[in-house]
Amino acid sequence: MTKKILVYAECRDGRLRRVAFEALAAARLLAGEDGEVHAVLAGAGPAEAEALAARGADVVHAADDPALAVYTPEVYAAALSAAFCSLKPQALLLGHTAAGRELAPRLAAAFGAGHIADVTAVQAAHDGGEAVFTRPLYAGKAYERRRFAPGVPWVVTIRPNNMPPASPSEKQGTVQALAFEVPPLYTSVRSIVRRTSGQIDLAEADIVVSGGRGVRSAAGFEPLQQLAEALGGAVGASRAACDAGYCDYALQIGQTGKTVTPQLYIACGISGAIQHLAGMSGSRTIVAINKDPDAPIFGVADYGIVGDLFEVVPLLTSEFRKQRPSSAG
Ligand SMILES: Cc1cc2nc3c(=O)[nH]c(=O)nc-3n(C[C@H](O)[C@H](O)[C@H](O)COP(=O)(O)OP(=O)(O)OC[C@H]3O[C@@H](n4cnc5c(N)ncnc54)[C@H](O)[C@@H]3O)c2cc1C
Repeated sequence: MTKKILVYAECRDGRLRRVAFEALAAARLLAGEDGEVHAVLAGAGPAEAEALAARGADVVHAADDPALAVYTPEVYAAALSAAFCSLKPQALLLGHTAAGRELAPRLAAAFGAGHIADVTAVQAAHDGGEAVFTRPLYAGKAYERRRFAPGVPWVVTIRPNNMPPASPSEKQGTVQALAFEVPPLYTSVRSIVRRTSGQIDLAEADIVVSGGRGVRSAAGFEPLQQLAEALGGAVGASRAACDAGYCDYALQIGQTGKTVTPQLYIACGISGAIQHLAGMSGSRTIVAINKDPDAPIFGVADYGIVGDLFEVVPLLTSEFRKQRPSSAG
């Protein structure tokens, strides 16, 4: 039987999120070259549907209804359920995002499916074996590998920034309209308030400049902001910095914050507690700036600068501005 894998192609402000392409790549791995990858697109236009069809979705099921203009779990779950019930795929993959975490258990319960959350690696079945899903435990200190019981469909959430996104495919998929019934709503969204001011989404930024308790105040984040701007990156923070009121919780990176895997992570005045490492240790290159030569962050850093961040960060900014004068603020 042809394997069918369904992906929820999550969008924000009508644009596909990177995790949608990461889930698409994981779906292709699970489906195999002979299998079918289907994607559900909701609340986005034809350009996004074409982008999915060009990067590995065999069929894009585009749901169009004014009720999809704003994300509500009831309506989005109804659109996904409609696709799931008509296609009967082996698996539904979603990003392990706020929406994915809300939709996945709801849908798994509705379909009588197994559910594995926060998957960081997928190993496809081969030689008659079963697919294996890897997920972190204890804030990333350990990893477990899970399989589904045979005979049940799967619902899996994929942790953002952990797998390569789907690249352009030789084969162009097709786009179909997805019919679904808008359910009665028990909640309504009155307004959406953005908590982040930056242009670059922290979770998807290639460069992150992060500040901890060592930054000492909200004003202390200003040099970090300037460095991030010079590099075209985003600003993040440790929980201690958020708890102290130096910055918004939207910037928190770690076990109970965002997970980031940028090409470059610059940790300024961050000690390197395990809960912080859980959110950033997958970064390609880690640079740590800390006054304390014994700070645990140096244990994971590729480059360590022992020094006062208020001296080091402005020096770095001025050097990077010389390299990239157009990005100087
Ligand atoms: C259940 C749970 C969940 C948690 N989740 C998270 C999470 O998601 N994210 C998170 O970050 N934490 C989390 N924590 C908190 C975590 O345990 C640490 O308390 C926190 O990460 C410490 O933040 P910090 O490194 O900024 O502060 P500190 O540990 O106080 O470190 C400050 C560092 O700044 C250095 N410093 C001071 N002044 C300067 C200067 N001028 N120049 C250079 N360096 C300087 C110091 O040497 C020190 O190393 C969690 C804790 C628990 C219990």
